[in-house]
Amino acid sequence: MESPSESNLSSELEIIYHQLEKELTRLNPGCNRCGTCCDFSAFDHILYASSIEINFITWNVEVPDFNVSDNICPFLKNNQCSIRDFRTLGCRVFYCNPHYKEVLNEVYEKYYQMIKDLSRKYDTQWEYLPFLHKLAEFKLKTAVAG
Ligand code: SF4
Ligand code: SF4
Repeated sequence: MESPSESNLSSELEIIYHQLEKELTRLNPGCNRCGTCCDFSAFDHILYASSIEINFITWNVEVPDFNVSDNICPFLKNNQCSIRDFRTLGCRVFYCNPHYKEVLNEVYEKYYQMIKDLSRKYDTQWEYLPFLHKLAEFKLKTAVAG
């Protein structure tokens, strides 16, 4: 359950994601949603995410049991992202089309800064760490608390 301040933070993060989606739609780098890039070993890729984005996910969806060493996002179901509305900036901005690499890096930096400013505004602890490790840490904490 979110506190009122967490709820406001969530709403502002949703606005940022919405603005990002509009910008990406305009750019249109192309994606057939094959889900391959959510298998991080297949893409030799480490997905990073901020603490507020991970909180946003855990406030809204259940994190399934998973094994970090598999290096596959636990939200990937039948090759589809099962949490599209809540997925991170890194998920949203990643496209495998090499022609868009530079422009997408710029988009990423811009929205990263906006999310960081949001964290500052709400005085939350800022961390930007590998997504799977942070999710595993969350699972461990909730198992100990529960
Ligand atoms: S949250 Fe969704 S888009 Fe992001 S890595 Fe996981 S399955 Fe892929
Ligand atoms: S970005 Fe590429 S690899 Fe990832 S889902 Fe889209 S088409 Fe597949």
